[in-house]
Amino acid sequence: MTMKRWNGWGNEETDYPVPPAALEYLAAHLGALEPRFDARLQDVIGTVPVSRLPAHPALETDPETRLRHALGQSLPDWVALRFGRIKAFPDAVARPTSAEDVRDLLAFARDVGARVIPYGGGTSVVGHINATADGAPVLTVSLEYLDQVLELDDTSRLATVEAGVAGSHLERQLQARGYTLGHFPQSFEYSTLGGWIATRSRGQQSYHYGPIEEMFAGGHLETPRGPLHLPAFPASAAGPDLRELVLGSEGRLGVIVQARVRVRTRPEAEEFQGIFFPTWEKSVGATRAMVQSDLPVSMLRLSSPLETEITLALAGKRWIEWADRGLRLVGFGRERCLLIFGVTGTAGQVRRTRGSVVALGRRFDGMPVGTRVGQMWQKNRFLSPYLRNTLWEHGVAVDTLETALPWSRVTAAVEAVPRAIVQAAEAHGERVLAFVHLSHLYRDGASLYTTYMFRRGADPDELLAHWREMKHAASLVLQAHGGTITHQHGVGLDHASYLPAEKGRLGLDVLRAAFKACDPDGLMNPGKLL
Ligand SMILES: Cc1cc2nc3c(=O)[nH]c(=O)nc-3n(C[C@H](O)[C@H](O)[C@H](O)COP(=O)(O)OP(=O)(O)OC[C@H]3O[C@@H](n4cnc5c(N)ncnc54)[C@H](O)[C@@H]3O)c2cc1C
Repeated sequence: MTMKRWNGWGNEETDYPVPPAALEYLAAHLGALEPRFDARLQDVIGTVPVSRLPAHPALETDPETRLRHALGQSLPDWVALRFGRIKAFPDAVARPTSAEDVRDLLAFARDVGARVIPYGGGTSVVGHINATADGAPVLTVSLEYLDQVLELDDTSRLATVEAGVAGSHLERQLQARGYTLGHFPQSFEYSTLGGWIATRSRGQQSYHYGPIEEMFAGGHLETPRGPLHLPAFPASAAGPDLRELVLGSEGRLGVIVQARVRVRTRPEAEEFQGIFFPTWEKSVGATRAMVQSDLPVSMLRLSSPLETEITLALAGKRWIEWADRGLRLVGFGRERCLLIFGVTGTAGQVRRTRGSVVALGRRFDGMPVGTRVGQMWQKNRFLSPYLRNTLWEHGVAVDTLETALPWSRVTAAVEAVPRAIVQAAEAHGERVLAFVHLSHLYRDGASLYTTYMFRRGADPDELLAHWREMKHAASLVLQAHGGTITHQHGVGLDHASYLPAEKGRLGLDVLRAAFKACDPDGLMNPGKLL
């Protein structure tokens, strides 16, 4: 059994080394990199205060368990963990094994005035699972022992699944029976079904398999007011759909214990390929045309010129260097963009779709480069988050932000969002690499995913202050361009202040009323979302 890292991404056995050429590239663009030392586990354990909760047989109160459930994966979380400066810890962690256990824990929390944080895989990147210091004790309810596929209805292609199952374990169970859910977020190794529902997560192949909203057919929640059962219908006109309230509820309504999900048979064939385009305009024109002509691809990921350059630089592979030189020789210079597309289905569908994508790409001067780049992406799709550990250890902090906006605003935002980050960094004399890709595509628009890398200094307060300025500048710009504050990461703590601009006062009142109906005493995950 591999041990999860306590202060970074993933398990302790897996590393993603940075090629020396990539480090040179980063130093040339960010300035000299200085590796720094992190706080040690034993020292941080020593900072965990005594639990304020009364003894209960279901509660674990040892400091290490509480530390390991205190934070997620946001940049402020990383700073707190790596510098050993964690402001608040849960007072206890419970790992229920049934809906009845969850009900008992909620009753206990109400009796002792504790707050409850439902915890899936702890992969939140926006502060969803952090204890907030409002004076009340905090109980984190980890769903990790609720991880089984309970029933599979082959005729209806519906599975009843416990909500604490991590993506990798869920797919192993389904695939052994010839099925797949097809939800593959980059955090797939650890993020859970309940977490996906509670945050409206997006899988990398959502274009083919659909978003979690379409997969989630019904389920069972335990709320402080009692159980909430959502029957699974193929469709229903019986008033507003309560599943919509649960999707994105971020632990505020109650604990999702089980979900009925729509599964599919495993595809016969699948492949990922690359096409280079000479400019952003041509690449975005081709990509939009693919989506609006309903080409049945399973994934499209279009990198901006800078992201294309960095992808090639960080790969550190000899064959990529040669391919890069070849591209430059045929006139694909600094403005070139890489589109990776996936095709999934029967062997015949894969062949036909691949042909149509390549033909359409050529109409926009695209140069198909076959499966090698696509295979590299596929091999690293769940490994690349490990790079964040290595980069941090070399002195580079990495963060991401994302939005979705109409096609008519995409190109302006592709320029404006990274520019806002660069300008915010320049204001305090730092350099940053900020680059984007379009990752989830719709007929009317696209999601824009921004990655930014900067040197992490020795002072955590200064580091956080600089990060806040960059994040805030980008958030204002993406909202000004008609984008949502989040396409897939959710709201948590970090996006809560941007929500009123999107939902309006009445909209927020409606949400508050729904949460209050299920949780009159305000036990559930306070401070998140609203
Ligand atoms: C490296 C990395 C890559 C990522 N890639 C993607 C991606 O491709 N797509 C994407 O959408 N997101 C991505 N994320 C973000 C994150 O993985 C998602 O938000 C995910 O859905 C969180 O699931 P989780 O099980 O880890 O939930 P947690 O982080 O444990 O919790 C998130 C929120 O959901 C609530 N919650 C969790 N389980 C339950 C439950 N059973 N009942 C009620 N509430 C619950 C929690 O209270 C909290 O508010 C990524 C994160 C990382 C660190």
